[in-house]
Amino acid sequence: MSEPIGFESAAHVVAPGLSAGLAREAAPRRTVPHVPRSGKVFLIGAGPGDPELLTLKAARLLAQADAIVFDHLVGNGILEMANPAACRVYVGKEAGNHSLPQDQINRLLVELAAEGLTVVRLKGGDPFIFGRGGEEAEELLACGIDCEVVPGITAASGISAYTGIPLTHRDHARSVVFTTGHLKDGTVNLDWPALARPAQTVVIYMGLSALDIICRELIAHGLPGTTPGAVVHAGTTPRQVIVTAPIAQLADKVSAAGMKSPALIMVGPVVSLHALLGPREPDRAAVPHEACEALALNRLCATEL
Ligand code: SAH
Repeated sequence: MSEPIGFESAAHVVAPGLSAGLAREAAPRRTVPHVPRSGKVFLIGAGPGDPELLTLKAARLLAQADAIVFDHLVGNGILEMANPAACRVYVGKEAGNHSLPQDQINRLLVELAAEGLTVVRLKGGDPFIFGRGGEEAEELLACGIDCEVVPGITAASGISAYTGIPLTHRDHARSVVFTTGHLKDGTVNLDWPALARPAQTVVIYMGLSALDIICRELIAHGLPGTTPGAVVHAGTTPRQVIVTAPIAQLADKVSAAGMKSPALIMVGPVVSLHALLGPREPDRAAVPHEACEALALNRLCATEL
């Protein structure tokens, strides 16, 4: 683990250029008390999977971190950008399998920061969207620990782009709702009339195990069974799989495909755009460099004429 930043900066108060230990020996009668500066926790969103979706700020802070506390949804390749000397703690949370309870994660963050460390709390997607980032920030602030949130690309946004399903579209959806299919008490007691509105996109996080109930309730509250729906597993990663179907058949099709978590459910007319805007075979999508130059040249000639 790299040296805690708190001691380094405190040493500079009495003896610039010396290490903390040397500073203590060289200045035994200093009048400024040696108080180690408390560290700081950065609650960072790692995005939905593709490491290239990490923000520049997140990458910089990872490279500077003394300690990294991370979840199972953090994409492969992201930790490779971290300070190799940083201590890494996996606190992964998979549905029904919490390897470290939330109160212990909170306590760990407080203890690491109290040691004077720069701590990165790395979470999948965005920390403030179904990521318990709010709870962790509250706990840190209550314990007097400095804390800063760095946003990440949430699963809905990343998957929208990587599947060609715009979340809003003037012809199809004027609003978008993010909700969770996994409530604290294990029920799926959602505001069904609000979710079943027309011309709306509904994105459901953590809803795979309740997919049949979700589709049934949406139809019971007025959404036509023909409304397009999609379930996306491991979105934005090389393992991305998408299953689309009208919501009346979605649960059966997804169960036949044996889809597993993490999976995101998207419902609404925008899902029909996947056929048009979804990813193409690489050879069809790629525009060769020469073709691009030729097009630009034609444009130039046409303008000059
Ligand atoms: N904070 C995260 C969400 C955490 S809740 C965010 O902003 O994205 C975890 C749920 O997010 C999963 O159960 C799944 O529904 C969804 N999810 C996250 N990453 C995903 C991915 N790459 N593919 C599909 N679903 C994903």
